[in-house]
Amino acid sequence: MTPFSRPGTAEYAAATASFQLAVPVEPAGAFTARSVDDVVRAVAAARRSGRPLRLTTTGHAMGRTGPLTDSLLLRPVLDTPVRVDPEARTARVPAGKTWGDVLPETTRYGLTALHGSSSSVGVIGYLLGGGLSFYGRRFGLAANSLRSLTVVLADGEVVETSSTQRPDLFWALRGGGGGFGVVVAAEIDLIPMHRIVTGMAVWDPADAARLAPVWQAWARTAPPEITTSFRMLSLPPLPFLPPYLAGKRVLALDGAVIAPAEADRPAARRIADEMLSPLSAIAPPVANTWAEAAPEALAGVHLDPAEPVPFHSDSALLHEIGEADWARVLEAGPNLIALELRQLGGAFATGAANGGALDRFAAPLHYYGVGLAGADTEQDLKAVRTALEPSLTGFTAPNFVDDLDRPQRSYDDEIRARVERVRHATDPTGLFAGDAAPARDPD
Ligand SMILES: Cc1cc2nc3c(=O)[nH]c(=O)nc-3n(C[C@H](O)[C@H](O)[C@H](O)COP(=O)(O)OP(=O)(O)OC[C@H]3O[C@@H](n4cnc5c(N)ncnc54)[C@H](O)[C@@H]3O)c2cc1C
Repeated sequence: MTPFSRPGTAEYAAATASFQLAVPVEPAGAFTARSVDDVVRAVAAARRSGRPLRLTTTGHAMGRTGPLTDSLLLRPVLDTPVRVDPEARTARVPAGKTWGDVLPETTRYGLTALHGSSSSVGVIGYLLGGGLSFYGRRFGLAANSLRSLTVVLADGEVVETSSTQRPDLFWALRGGGGGFGVVVAAEIDLIPMHRIVTGMAVWDPADAARLAPVWQAWARTAPPEITTSFRMLSLPPLPFLPPYLAGKRVLALDGAVIAPAEADRPAARRIADEMLSPLSAIAPPVANTWAEAAPEALAGVHLDPAEPVPFHSDSALLHEIGEADWARVLEAGPNLIALELRQLGGAFATGAANGGALDRFAAPLHYYGVGLAGADTEQDLKAVRTALEPSLTGFTAPNFVDDLDRPQRSYDDEIRARVERVRHATDPTGLFAGDAAPARDPD
């Protein structure tokens, strides 16, 4: 008997709930798996049905792959706890956990992970797509922190993958775009983190084009202990926001400096000061919350939405932006909630000795533009992309693609061909093919 529920049932509604409200989630059947046995059962049922099997955890990236019509949707949210080994500095994270589930388990040992800006993002989806963290300029892409992945394959076999077990599949899973099987657990390296210096400095948007080239010049040679985000931000007038952000358009500079050990605290404070001082000398911020904090504070700094929203976004890896182009770029998206330039470089650029299909971003900046789904946002995203034309590298970070019509090229042709070979060898009948993000850009 199939475990997949039909539309109209409570089980179907729970399994198809998605963070991305702009994309319909209407598969032929849906199932929330609570154990590895459930996953194996669901894979067998999907195989028998002849329908493609699609995967989701939170639905943050629901727009990245094609419509779900005629597919079955599997949401693996296992009833297994996160296990931290403080001696080995590793965590075993079962499918279905968000960063919000994992971080309280690690921080009690003075350890953290290369998590992203939002605690509601799914750990497995984030890691498989590379993982851009505010700790990344020191430690690289989060996918490089993976030690092993446990996967249920299309034939129902449960396999361990690591640099010594099925190394080709382990390589392709890390950034290869999905479509290999159901990951039921990930083992990741943790990092010691005593304190961080974090916060947000906010300026009048009229100062943005003057400050941007100064930030970019600082970013070029900044120490790897700091990673920052330079954003035009227009948040709605939400009651929990401070008055200088609620319903206002501002320039915001947030991020983090690491202090892994007690002795690193003075240096971390100095690095944050060296970033803010030249900018404050040009234009004093209207607010500045940068200060020493516990690592737990980082997940709240970027002010990502906690509740599901209908959104459209665009993203690109960029060369540096020319001094004369900054004003045009920053003014191109007045209706966007955020137009972000994220500082890369450092360990983001160097990759890992034993990395996967995607182990680095060879670009100094990452652009992410996002707004509420609708014509105004679409128009602004197009205008920003046009303004960014001279800086486009032609590559994107897989985690930030959420629309089939957007560029999706994440690696060169040789890597793409190797990923496809592994995908074909792992899933020859294409059970998971619909879960693979298109590797080519739209024509
Ligand atoms: C508000 C917001 C903030 C974000 N912040 C960051 C950030 O700071 N850094 C960053 O790098 N990214 C960030 N992202 C992007 C995010 O990492 C990706 O959207 C990621 O794919 C989300 O994974 P998910 O499982 O939550 O989403 P889903 O949409 O549920 O899954 C996305 C894809 O992941 C794969 N997947 C999920 N679970 C499994 C599984 N168990 N086995 C196999 N494949 C699976 C599937 O291919 C699925 O299509 C953010 C996105 C949003 C909307």
